[in-house]
This record gives sequence, structure tokens and C-alpha cells, in this order.
Amino acid sequence: MGLTGIQILKKLPKTNCKECGFSTCMAFAMKVAAGQADINACPYVDPAVKEEIAEASAPPVKKVELGGGEYTYFLGGESVLFRHDKRFENPPLIGTFISTKMQEEEILRRIELYKKLKWERVGITLKPEILFLQDEENGGKLVEITRKVRSELPWVALVLASSETKILREAIEVCGDFKPLIYGAGSQNFEELSKLSIETQAPLTIIGESLDEISELSEKALKKGLRKLVLDPGSQGVRELFEDLIIIRKTAVKNRFKPFGFPVITFPYRYTSSYLFEALIASALICKYSSIIILSDLKPEALINLLVERMNIYTDPQKPLVVEEGIYPINGPDENSLVAITCNFALTYFIVNGEIEASRVPTWLLIKDTDGLSVLTAWAAGKFGADTIAPFIKKCGIEEKIKHRKLIIPGYLAGIKGELEEELPGWEIIVGPREASGIPAFFKNFTEELKKEKKTERIEVVEEEKQAVKKEKEKKEEGNHKVVCIAENINIMSKRIGKAIKERQAQPIQKMAKESAELGAEYLDLNIGPAKKDAQELAPWIVRIVEEVVDIPISLDTTNPDAMIAGLKVSKQPSKALINSITIHPERLNRLAPFAAETGCDVVALLWGESGLPRDANERASLAVDLVGKLNEYDIPNEKIWVDPVLTPVTLGAQQIREILNFLSMLQEVTPGVKTIVGLSNVSNGVAPHLRPYLNRVMLMMLMKYNLYSAILDIYDKELIEIAKGKHPQWVSLVHRIMEGEEIDTQKLSPKETEIYKTVKVLTGETIFSESWLEV
Ligand code: SF4
Repeated sequence: MGLTGIQILKKLPKTNCKECGFSTCMAFAMKVAAGQADINACPYVDPAVKEEIAEASAPPVKKVELGGGEYTYFLGGESVLFRHDKRFENPPLIGTFISTKMQEEEILRRIELYKKLKWERVGITLKPEILFLQDEENGGKLVEITRKVRSELPWVALVLASSETKILREAIEVCGDFKPLIYGAGSQNFEELSKLSIETQAPLTIIGESLDEISELSEKALKKGLRKLVLDPGSQGVRELFEDLIIIRKTAVKNRFKPFGFPVITFPYRYTSSYLFEALIASALICKYSSIIILSDLKPEALINLLVERMNIYTDPQKPLVVEEGIYPINGPDENSLVAITCNFALTYFIVNGEIEASRVPTWLLIKDTDGLSVLTAWAAGKFGADTIAPFIKKCGIEEKIKHRKLIIPGYLAGIKGELEEELPGWEIIVGPREASGIPAFFKNFTEELKKEKKTERIEVVEEEKQAVKKEKEKKEEGNHKVVCIAENINIMSKRIGKAIKERQAQPIQKMAKESAELGAEYLDLNIGPAKKDAQELAPWIVRIVEEVVDIPISLDTTNPDAMIAGLKVSKQPSKALINSITIHPERLNRLAPFAAETGCDVVALLWGESGLPRDANERASLAVDLVGKLNEYDIPNEKIWVDPVLTPVTLGAQQIREILNFLSMLQEVTPGVKTIVGLSNVSNGVAPHLRPYLNRVMLMMLMKYNLYSAILDIYDKELIEIAKGKHPQWVSLVHRIMEGEEIDTQKLSPKETEIYKTVKVLTGETIFSESWLEV
């Protein structure tokens, strides 16, 4: 792990002069730790310290540049073993080779393949982009081929191999500023080739017959000042190859072993004569951990699969692939064809598109920009509701393409049908199937009915579908020593109470409010969702009816600033209320922060950044410093700010949970005096309902190790509330001992303690999560 923000801050002058472009040294330190600022931006840091920080902050697998200009490629730059830990940075370059021994036709065939083989997927062009040129004759033909390839394939990165340094030098000169990779410096020619690499600035491949040899040569190269290296472990068999690659990556990342901190080149054809098996090896090498993969040939049927796999593995798991907003004609639609709409999450688009194609029903598919979120997530985030779909329909141009006014919406959005019809006068909204697999049958039937001019109102809003929408939103909104208990249960997406909120039935809500107070709630979270349509009415109504029957403070929970302000304005005790929540986004921050300052209420500072969820502890700390700093500028003191690090489900992996715990351990140093809050139930989102309490309870005890101040949680989970109120210190102590790595004699644990032990192991990632974790 690189340096934390705090460690970097200790090395800064702490004058807060702002010359680095940040308001404080603290903010700058956090940005450097998160990789979002360069230490060189501070002119007052000692050069030796700068070098130390730059070295410590650099990725353990060095980034090596190939090519140049618009065709610059990066290799390496990796900092994790697994994609889900953060992301893989630079996709491996895939290509084949040309040997000087090959016949002219074969050389031309291979060059032509590079021109021909390209595919468009999700707006990305997939193609081979590296070529290994191998001199096997030492007669100058390599230079000639290099020249030809550079002129015909200017985008293709090159690896040049020759036993003659003179020929290599000439071939490198032919490339000019476009830097090829020199292959390969072994024990025999290390001195000559390392000299060539220094002189030409072309990166160098280190080759060897064992990892020991590679390590020795790489160390020698580092001592000579060479930093642009690629490793070829020269493994003898497939198994050894994978072992070598894992050892290289693991020692680089975990042990920061510098001689192995470089990208790796591999040649799958060395291990098999079967192209199919070669492609399989290449497929595994994309995941573990090759940065250049040279195949024996380029066969489209294998290459397309490898390139798609590479695209999927090397996309940022936190940034979904998107397709462009617009109108997509499928199966040749005309003015009488169906119109359907979905989100711009690429996976959704391709599945829906495939099913419509399969149905053969001519259709206009409308893609609405939802920032790459899927249908329900986008709806919950306020990006795919009636208020955003209607303006899109009006402006996208579909009205000019069709005679009718019928729009099919995804089945999961059944709940917005009425609202959308109000927003789109003259349009009839048809609720389509919930799953894309239902599209062919649905579209065919619907087309038949249209033809027969039957009434189209056969699609009713199904209660079950409404429930699914609610359930999904509920999952998103649910939340988490002596910990202040904020009841999560009054929630518009809740099965039990959602209908009452929507229909403005006060009695069930008041009953739940009273029960929550009796069960120990210290705040009531009133989650009214985005409240787009009824912001001015719903929020004040719910605040009034709840405060009629209980006098505990409320936490008004909505992404809609208008609803928030309207609700808190009618509160009997606004200064005791909690605004849930404010983010760094100006539309929420600039509207709610002045109101919070004026009212004197507390605010939840939600760490959801400009590009979504922070990836690790450093990014969270950086965002916390920014957001708390901005709230301070509005005169909201730290003790009124409740920082929410955004707890993520264990089903997404334990890495994020570890990052949240790391973040909480440093929070008081970076923003002293702030409170903390989590949506506790988030951790068990997506898990079978009967198992969720086990995860929620143990997660709470783990968070208590870092003095969690408050949790939005299920007030009806009696055991959970007992833990929060400090009634089970022995369990809490056991959890903390396990977290500290103490050897626990599991034979001596009671069944309850064993359950806790197993759950801690799952939440720390020591055991892989599955829903049978308590049984194994
Ligand atoms: Fe601090 Fe250096 Fe930035 Fe000045 S330039 S605020 S001393 S980090």
C-alpha cells in the first residue's frame, strides 16, 4: 500500500499557502494519496522527500510507455492482484509476429490482417495493436519490414528482436519518435542492449530462463537507471508460466519487490501447437497478468473473443459501459412501429437490443442517458423517472417518426406509468415485461393487438411489479458502541409502509413511528425517495404526522433539496433534525448547506463523489476533506457533520468494507470532531432475508471498533439494537479480537460465538462470501 494522506501530510510544510491549488496542505495530501494530485505541485517540499513520496505513491507495477503521439500505449501501472480490489489499469496489447524468414506473401497476409480485423463493441473499436518483428537472418530485412509496417500500420506498437544490435539500432531509428520495445536482454547481451535502450530511450525486455535470472538482470537494469522494462520469464510449461506470472505480480504488489515491478510479455504458442489451446492460454493471460500477448497468428474467431474479454476485464468496475442517448431503429421500423425505452447501461442495451432483434418486430428503441445506471438503480437515483423521461421523449425526435403515441416502458418501472402519462399528455404508456427475455413474446402479442385495433390497456400495473420497484429502492436506501440508532423503517419503498406513504394514510406511519420510539430509536429516518413530483407536499405532510405522535428528532431522507427544505421548514424542532444527505455535487451542496447553517440542524455528508463511489480509503479521505471543508465554508461546524462513507454490500467483495474501516480509522485525523453514520443494512443487500441480520449485527460490531457514532438500521431487529446500545460487550470484544488477528480457539466458542466468528471472517474477506457461510 502507498502512503496514506496523513503520512504525506507529515512531510508537507503545513503553511496552507494554497500555491498547489488546494486550500490546505491537508486537502493536497489527501489528493496526492488518492492519486489525484502530483506531489510536485507543492514547491516547498524537499526534492528528496518528493522523490520518496513519488516512489511510494507510484503503482507497484511500473507504467511503461510504447509507441508515441496519438498511438501511445501504456503497459502495467497496476496496483492490485484482483480487478475487484480496485481495477486493472492498462489492457494487454494483443497481436502476432512476423519473422524475416517468412515468405513475402505471408508477411503481406499478416499486415493485411491488422487492417482487416477490427470490431465495434459498445462504441469501442477492438483490434490487435502490437506486432512482434523477429529477425532470424541478420541480413537487414528486419529494418525493411519495420519500415513497411510503420508506413502501413502506423497505429501498431512494435516489438523488435534481433541478435544483431546494429540491426536493432537501425530498426529503432526507422521508428523515429515512435518507441518500439527492444527484445530481449539476457545474460549474454545484457550490457549491449541496456546501452541501446538508454541511448534510444526505447523500453527493454529482460529475458531469462528462471525468475532468479530475471530478478538479477532486472536489478542490474535498475542500478543502471533503466525504468522502462518489460519481463519475459521464459517459463517452460503452461503451469510454470502461470505460477511465474502470479509470483511476479504478487511479489511486486504485496512485497513491493522492485525487480519484478514491471509489465510482462508472453507467447502462448510456445506451449502448444493447437490454436484453440493457445487462445485458451491467452484468455487466462488476460486475467493473470500479461501486458503483451503474442499469438502465433490472428484468427478472427479467437481474436474477437480475446478482445471482448479484455474489454470486460479492463473496464473500471465502478464505471459502467454506456451507449449513446438516442433513437435506435431495430428490424426496420416505420411510422406505425413500436416504441420502447430503456436506460443507457451498455449491458442492458445489448440484451434488450438482442431480444428485440430476435422478436423480428420493427421497433424504435429509445435510449435515455442514465449515466450508465441500470433501470432500477437509475430510477432510484432520480435519473429515470417520469420527470426525466418525459422531456427526453419530447426532444429526442421520436414524435416526428411515428403516427401513434404509445410508449413501452420497462416492467420494473410500472410504478411511474400514471405519472408519465401526466407528464406526456396524449401518450399512452404501456408497461412492458420486467425481464428482457419476455420481450419477443410481449412485442409479438402487442403488435398483433395493435393490428386488430384492440385496446391496448391490457397491460395493468401489477402490484407485484410495484413491490419489486419498492424492494429494489428499499435495498438501496436501507442503512446501519453505543451507537445512535436511527430507525430506517419509515421508507417509501418499504413493503410494509410504502403504500401508506404514497396514499397519505397517516395511521400506519404514526403507528410505526411510535413502535420505533418504543424500540429505542433515537432518530427516525423518513425516507421519501426522490419525491420529484410531490416535493412540496409529501415531505411537510410526513414530518407533520410523525411529529404529532413522537418527539424524537427526524432524519429527513431524500435526494430532492426542495423536498428537504419544505419538510424541515414545518418541523417542530428543525435544529435537532438531520439532513440526509448532502453530497459534493453543487446542486445539493449549494442549496442545502445554507439552509442547514441557517436552521442549525445537523447534516449527513455523503461520500459520493463526482465519479461515484470512492474506490479506497484515500479517496474517501480526500472527498471527506473536500466536503467537510465546503460545509465549513457555510459555517457548519464539524460536530454538526455526520460523515457517511457509503457502506457497500458484502456481495460486492470485502475489499470495500476493509477500505471503509481503514477510512474510519483515519477520519478523526483528517476532519477532527465529525460524527459518523452508516446505512447498516447496505452490507447485507442482495442476501437472503433470513441471513441479513447476521451480517448487519456483526458489521455493526466491526464498525464500533472505529467508534461509529450512528447507524441507520432496522429498529425491529431486537438483537441488533441491543448490540448498538452496548448490551453485548463480550460479543463486541470477540469481534475486535478477531479483527486484531488474535488466534481464537474456535473449539471453545459457543454456537453464538461461532456464528459471529464465521461472519467476521466473511466480512473481512478471509472467507469468500456465500450464503452458506454459517454452515461451513
Ligand atoms: Fe501546503 Fe505546499 Fe500546498 Fe502550500 S503549496 S498549501 S505548503 S501543500
